[in-house]
Amino acid sequence: MTKTVKIGKTEIGGGNAVAVQSMTNTDTSDYVATSAQISALAAAGCDIVRLAVRDLRDVETCKKYVVESEVPLVADIQFDYRLAVSCADIGFAKVRYNPGNTSHDGLKELVAACKANGCPIRIGINGGSLEKDIRAKYNGATAAALSESAMRSVAALEREGFDDIVISVKSSDVKKCVEAYRILSKSCAYPLHIGITESGAGEDAVIKSTAGIASLLLDGIGDTIRVSLTGDPVREVEVGRSILRSVGLDRNYAEVVSCPTCARCFYDLESLVHKTKRIVKNVGKPMKIAVMGCVVNGPGEASDADLGIAGGKENAVLFRKGAVFATMPVAEAEAEFIKMLSELVS
Ligand code: SF4
Repeated sequence: MTKTVKIGKTEIGGGNAVAVQSMTNTDTSDYVATSAQISALAAAGCDIVRLAVRDLRDVETCKKYVVESEVPLVADIQFDYRLAVSCADIGFAKVRYNPGNTSHDGLKELVAACKANGCPIRIGINGGSLEKDIRAKYNGATAAALSESAMRSVAALEREGFDDIVISVKSSDVKKCVEAYRILSKSCAYPLHIGITESGAGEDAVIKSTAGIASLLLDGIGDTIRVSLTGDPVREVEVGRSILRSVGLDRNYAEVVSCPTCARCFYDLESLVHKTKRIVKNVGKPMKIAVMGCVVNGPGEASDADLGIAGGKENAVLFRKGAVFATMPVAEAEAEFIKMLSELVS
């Protein structure tokens, strides 16, 4: 089991629930836009929000966010460790630095600030900015290279007596990235922040991120996840939560099971599925709803559903826990299903 690290009010590692995180893409110094985006991310179910802190002007504005935000905030630092020191001092819940572009010269000062403020450090290795000597040794940003880079920084922090550490080793190559995390999980017990960096945009990016993150989670690797998508970061949170649900790590929601339909389906199942999903969208407890095309496989395929409907040529059946309890004309059955579903979630 990994070590527990406290990111503000959220604990990661040590068997805690896997936390979903995302990153703002507004101008950090634009208070109105950034505070609105932090709130939108929190409302979407984001457990931890990261902000890029580029200069002292950003640090100044961030003083307000760290006080006002309902979720813990993480400062993302590149190039200048002094900014990380300032961020630890103003109350960020964690700082992330990239050893590939940030010198270890200021490490003593950073560790002192983080110790004084109870602020963990994420060592954020990225295949695109790996230290030159490690890249040369491995002839590129291989999985072993990413892992070695992370462990080099771990050793540097441990030499300073600091172990409040989280690690990430990201690559846009799914296979390489997954392999790097597998190596790392055998090398240390620090919590791992997992994700596929620069996944891209749209459905391909969602699938790419899911392939990598879900593979690791199913292996028991990963304490916090970030889905990296071009566009509105709220989508990253929605996808992140879906990934946790699909691998059984978040059960507090209503799962809607529906069949792909085939020639045996004689009603508009697709519309009913969309309607059902809208009704159960905000359910925050375990529930299973089945919308099936026909009675041939319907009740049996969704035998543990709390409520279900299976269509037929003229009649449809309603079922609970796999057992049929009413048969009626399709239109009536749909209306009854929606009524019962609304009662169930209210
Ligand atoms: S439940 Fe019925 S309609 Fe749906 S895919 Fe299976 S056989 Fe076809």
